[in-house]
Amino acid sequence: MSPPDDSTPERAESGSIDGTVATPITEFPGFLRLMARGLTRRCPWCGDRRAYFTGWFTRTDRCRRCRHPYRRGDEAFELGATTANIILTFLSILIAILVAVVLTLPDIPTVPIVVIVGAIALAGPAIWYPISFTLWQAVDLFMRRPDEDEMAGRRDGTL
Ligand SMILES: [Zn+2]
Repeated sequence: MSPPDDSTPERAESGSIDGTVATPITEFPGFLRLMARGLTRRCPWCGDRRAYFTGWFTRTDRCRRCRHPYRRGDEAFELGATTANIILTFLSILIAILVAVVLTLPDIPTVPIVVIVGAIALAGPAIWYPISFTLWQAVDLFMRRPDEDEMAGRRDGTL
């Protein structure tokens, strides 16, 4: 008796995670839709709000609706997600500085601004954590379009 094969097409169509039946996604979204979904913590591919996350910091290996794995055959997905997190945090800091300076000109309160920016620098990575994953997934899907196996849900993401 052979062990169950996780890469069969039936699994993608009838399998479930947490009791949820997978919904195969056959259409691939465009760039703007991918990015909008990624920035709103949705699965970039199917648009599901729960996507990969069961909590703010806890995630599953696959989207809970379409079962698309966030790992798409590589081992460095988290590196891209970390980079996205750093960029989002730095953008938050930059926007906070610009807004504070513009609103307080000509007497810029340096110490309060530094305190606020410091708080953003500390909290930003945690706040952006899930969005950095979905955003990077969107970028990854745009840069490396899914092949036929991935579109059909036959690839398990580990290769
Ligand atoms: Zn999905």
